[in-house]
Amino acid sequence: MTRCYIGLGANLGEAQSVLLAAAGQLEDAAGTGTFRLSPLYRSAPVDASGPDYVNAVAEFDTALDAHALLSMLQRIEQAHGRERPYRNAPRTLDLDLLLYGDWHIDDPDLTVPHPRMHQRAFVLRPLADLAPGLKLAQGTLPDLIAACADQAITRIPDDPRR
Ligand code: AMP
Repeated sequence: MTRCYIGLGANLGEAQSVLLAAAGQLEDAAGTGTFRLSPLYRSAPVDASGPDYVNAVAEFDTALDAHALLSMLQRIEQAHGRERPYRNAPRTLDLDLLLYGDWHIDDPDLTVPHPRMHQRAFVLRPLADLAPGLKLAQGTLPDLIAACADQAITRIPDDPRR
């Protein structure tokens, strides 16, 4: 089994429900092992247009290889009706494979660790909630979070019904 971290983001329609539904699908697919979902955050789009995003990170152990995991993420995205009319268009649901164990993958369709995760507060903040001691090649999570302090992001208060 390999410990993986998935970034979830949504910014169209009922973004928070879409995100929680997708997290449920990831949990089902992850099977019996540990599954943890970070708190939810609201963030302003980075290099993109449209309304604010709802973001979170999921952590679980998987028996899938990295490419099979990416295919699973893409199936879940498609099930939520994601369309790609143009690059960085607002999307119903975006799932990114952030980390796959300590693997480094540089294939045409898959780069792991995700190449931009170290610059994005909406990935780093929820990731630090789950795994505060994690270190990326670019630095510790607190240092990387401090470096993107200019990105607007707030934690969504926990919903007692969750
Ligand atoms: P995006 O539209 O930003 O979700 O990008 C999706 C494209 O990025 C797909 O064609 C994937 O094959 C590719 N990709 C490369 N590395 C990753 C990754 N670590 N996680 C998700 N998609 C990836």
